Amino acid sequence: MGTVAFIGLGNMGAPMAQNLLSAGFKVRVFDLVFELAAQLESLGATRCESINEAVQGADTVITMLPAGQHVKTVYLGPDGILSQETKGKLLIDSSTIDPETTRMVGQKAIEQGAYFTDAPVSGGVAGAKAATLTFIVGGDEKAFNKAEQVLKHMGKNIFHAGGVGAGQMGKICNNLMLGILMSGTCEALNLGIDNGLDPKVLSNIMLQSSGRNWALELYNPCPGVMETAPASNDYKPGFMSKLMLKDLGLGLEAATKSQSSVPMGSLARNLYAFHNMNGNEELDFSSLFEFYQTQSKE
Ligand code: NAD
Repeated sequence: MGTVAFIGLGNMGAPMAQNLLSAGFKVRVFDLVFELAAQLESLGATRCESINEAVQGADTVITMLPAGQHVKTVYLGPDGILSQETKGKLLIDSSTIDPETTRMVGQKAIEQGAYFTDAPVSGGVAGAKAATLTFIVGGDEKAFNKAEQVLKHMGKNIFHAGGVGAGQMGKICNNLMLGILMSGTCEALNLGIDNGLDPKVLSNIMLQSSGRNWALELYNPCPGVMETAPASNDYKPGFMSKLMLKDLGLGLEAATKSQSSVPMGSLARNLYAFHNMNGNEELDFSSLFEFYQTQSKE
């Protein structure tokens, strides 16, 4: 097993890094939030004071950051990954960001002699904890094959979507659909409740009918229906509403460039923009259910 530098230890990064430790990798960690790195240190990781320190001595570097600007800083900043020798290192960015930033950073990394892949994930915090994430990987064949050897310790399904940036595009399409499906699931459940149905019974009906979908099956947005879902834990922890808004924005940006029609994605994005403006950015994205409940009562 090699040495992995893991940068970005939030809701997703921390359990992913923990799985690498469990698999026997040496893990060097860095996050702007001291406590997050200290927690990993208590589990056996080496806590580093800077990106540079984390990357030194690592053969693989994984980043799990909120958005494109963070990836730019972490890769291209004065203390960034590419500010030092990276020849022969495997660089994996698992953040969900715009494909342009990925291609720009990837090109610079490859010019320096590194192997680069974008490898955004699907599966949420539960998937990160259980090492059952789906990785959607962009990069050349050699980089993909190398990345697969590390990613398999954090995930179950690893797809090669195409060249650098293709992983992001696959992920963006998936999350456009997820945002639409979550909005629809909240809408249907709220309509049922307003008309006297028990949300548990309605959920069971729809799960055995043609309305079945991932949000309903594994991530029910109505509190109390599914004990393990963020909805039953005050919508924490999970995939924050601000991240879903970001991803829907990425979908709309991509659609503008390719002149694709995305009316449903636009509607879902507007719903999430409104929900975020009402102070729900840090809540799990299934908290959109509360938006429907509030609207119904007004
Ligand atoms: P998060 O905000 O919980 O974690 C991001 C971490 O990055 C934070 O701890 C932050 O301190 C750290 N960070 C930011 N800038 C940094 C810098 N310059 N140097 C070092 N650390 C820095 O976010 P998350 O929920 O873990 O999501 C991470 C990525 O994964 C996002 O792109 C998100 O869209 C994607 N994603 C999240 C989920 C989910 O369910 N949470 C699911 C799939 C994909």
